[in-house]
Amino acid sequence: AQNRYASLRTLPATGLCGTSIHLYMNAGLMADLPSLEGSGAEGVGLFRTELQFLIRNHVPRRAELAALYARVMDNAKGKPVMFRTLDIGSDKVLPYMKPQDEPNPAMGWRAIRVGLDKRGVLRMQVQALIRASVGRPLHVMFPFIADITEYEEAYRILMQELSREQRLGHDMPSDIRVGAMLETPALAFAPKKFFEMCDFVSIGGNDLKQFFFAADRENERVRRRYDTLSASFLLMLRQIVDRCADAHVPLSFCGEDAGRPIEALTLAALGIHRLSMRPASIGPVKHLIRQVSLQDLQSVIYEALDAGMPNLRRPVTEWLARNQR
Ligand code: PEP
Ligand code: MG
Repeated sequence: AQNRYASLRTLPATGLCGTSIHLYMNAGLMADLPSLEGSGAEGVGLFRTELQFLIRNHVPRRAELAALYARVMDNAKGKPVMFRTLDIGSDKVLPYMKPQDEPNPAMGWRAIRVGLDKRGVLRMQVQALIRASVGRPLHVMFPFIADITEYEEAYRILMQELSREQRLGHDMPSDIRVGAMLETPALAFAPKKFFEMCDFVSIGGNDLKQFFFAADRENERVRRRYDTLSASFLLMLRQIVDRCADAHVPLSFCGEDAGRPIEALTLAALGIHRLSMRPASIGPVKHLIRQVSLQDLQSVIYEALDAGMPNLRRPVTEWLARNQR
């Protein structure tokens, strides 16, 4: 299947309307990096740093992490890598962490909540990222932000660590881009200042959907009841697109839906022009985008939403069947 799309590897994901979609890959291990070249991804849109913490039986040291992050960037050969700071807790429990007895771990002490309560670990990780990026751009994103103050705090910690490196006379990254993952419905309604503070925003669709519908992403029984193409979910995404456009902040989507053809087309047509997915999905998604006019699809979607249709899977699928070349 990879071969089928090999000829597309160096071609852009541009629709017939001329709109270009930037396709990135998700990664978490060194072993993922060779796919960057093979898939034709423009970079790593989500590097899940917790995997490095999960495969060890001790907290990794700063030097060890810095060396690893540097190797990841070396292997990306100048393509950007968006490092997401630790998202532990929930389903990801570290073997060397005291297990938390929480009734709802997905809504519990996880991700940035742990980072802001145990600042030593977050600071150490941020220091490792800064040291790994000497002379090149650093992209950091903070996971599971629910409130602007959490982003402000995390941002401040990063800025403090940057000043500290500078004071110590260390060489610095050539550029810093800081972003947040939008994974809680609350963040879609954050004050405008939040969007203005971000260099980029990335929708974590897996978590965003689970919390939007109050349906556990791990629970097949309830998960399947809710569709990403439901009008209510798309209306929220449309609002996020508008708010990011108002603040001139680039928006991406890095949940599993970005790699599903119908979902990817719909996200792109809604105005989310950066999608990050499993490397194997890049070929098929690009193939599809290149055959359609995203602008036409956007009109179909807007009309269906305005007409009060509860779910857009049928109109989008039928439109695709009529319009795919
Ligand atoms: C998401 O929630 O969509 C996401 C990309 O993060 P993770 O799947 O690692 O929770
Ligand atoms: Mg998530």
